[in-house]
Amino acid sequence: MPTFEYAPAPESRAVVDIASSYGLFIGGEFVESRGGTPFKTISPATEEVLAQVSEASEQDVDRAVAAARTAFGSWSALSGTDRGKYLFRIARIMQERAREFAVLESLDNGKPIRESRDVDVPTAAAHFFYHAGWADKLSYASLGDRPRPHGVVGQVIPWNFPLLMLAWKIAPALATGNTVVLKPAETTPLTALLFAQVCQQADLPPGVVNIITGAGPTGQALIAHPDVDKVAFTGSTAVGKAIATTIAGTRKRATLELGGKAANIVFDDAPLDQAIEGIVNGIFFNQGHVCCAGSRLLVQESIAEEVETKLKTRLATLRVGDPLDKNTDIGAINSAAQLERITTLAAVGEAEGATRWSPECELPANGFWFAPTIFTGVAQTHRIAQEEIFGPVLSVLTFRTPGEAVAKANNTPYGLSAGIWTEKGSRILWMADHLKAGVVWANTFNKFDPTSPFGGYKESGYGREGGRHGLSAYVTTGDPT
Ligand code: NDP
Repeated sequence: MPTFEYAPAPESRAVVDIASSYGLFIGGEFVESRGGTPFKTISPATEEVLAQVSEASEQDVDRAVAAARTAFGSWSALSGTDRGKYLFRIARIMQERAREFAVLESLDNGKPIRESRDVDVPTAAAHFFYHAGWADKLSYASLGDRPRPHGVVGQVIPWNFPLLMLAWKIAPALATGNTVVLKPAETTPLTALLFAQVCQQADLPPGVVNIITGAGPTGQALIAHPDVDKVAFTGSTAVGKAIATTIAGTRKRATLELGGKAANIVFDDAPLDQAIEGIVNGIFFNQGHVCCAGSRLLVQESIAEEVETKLKTRLATLRVGDPLDKNTDIGAINSAAQLERITTLAAVGEAEGATRWSPECELPANGFWFAPTIFTGVAQTHRIAQEEIFGPVLSVLTFRTPGEAVAKANNTPYGLSAGIWTEKGSRILWMADHLKAGVVWANTFNKFDPTSPFGGYKESGYGREGGRHGLSAYVTTGDPT
């Protein structure tokens, strides 16, 4: 139980100016859709309608790709130094408008303001700063002989980190001289539309960045457009597979960042209090809407009971509620559809025989909410040990030896991330060597940095984002054909 009550500390909404309706951002200006059906974006915490947003039709996708193609000639001909100046300008404006971005993100997505303010927005700005620095140094980045941009890049992003995923996609594309058409997720379009205003404020040449809103069919039309040279996607493995099928046999390059079912592995010599914080951060950060979430806790058998007790005590102190309250640890589930998925899979966990536990917590009457939940007695064959739940639900399994921990951790179709908690450096290195995961954290979890490549093995996708490796996905080398 909390040791004392917290007084509400809500962040003011006054800093954001949400329009009643938004057009599409094509060729440097907001334009009406031609033939799309507008849709509403709501606050998942209250179900309040925030704004009406345009749906980009196939004709709109065509217009956006044409605008990006027109802009490509002069943008790619700019010197790296000049492209870098635009990126620095964008990064600085994002910092200046950080509070506005954070409040808007929490309103539209449901994530706690503490996270949007301290993680999403600063890391998004950091991605622009980092890539601004690369723009005039591409020939020294070991990217191969004469790195050149692909051309027009079609980018489709999910709803869990709307602004941050936009930054992961747009910053490297622009630094390397590509132009962009980006589609944010249907449920979280607002920070991408605010970013479009930042592009105007930064005097970015028209057409270099185009933002088209809509749902799956808009994304599909963008990916399939014949004048798109490269595709970058983050989202579910199912849609990633559909995209790979769509572009198979074409000249299009692709990077796919898909799902995960990460193991967070705790050994009996781990600093337990820190490990408990790492477990909580691993799965309850962003309501568990994280592709690399530590959704499977593998705990050494000898300390399993102690970890379970400590974890339950810690979970009882988490505050679930208003995303704009600075005290909130766990916000709203992003949509009714996602809440339904989480509810269904949690019910499957119970039906399969695992033991379900949640702390006592009062959930708000409106909006979409799910109490933090842990399942113990989970077997490897259980669906909650195999499938991505993408919510605040932790499956706890045990192991006896490092070899068994590795075998269990790797027993998944995914391979995005993993965590290791132990005092022994040699064990960290041995484990990291044997884990089939693109990112392995040691004695920490869910840490992100623009300099560090991120991406997966197996059904978690291919390609890397961030660092020098991420840049390489946006260039081609050798002589133009
Ligand atoms: P999706 O993969 O459907 O959505 C990701 C993005 O792709 C969205 O912008 C979506 O549009 C768009 N999209 C959907 N269908 C197509 C298509 N055929 N072609 C091109 N783009 C498309 O994820 P969901 O939002 O449906 O979430 C479903 C599950 O996916 C979650 O429960 C979770 O398990 C997983 N997921 C994983 C993420 C990750 O980072 N690994 C991120 C998000 C979800 P729109 O949203 O507008 O429909």
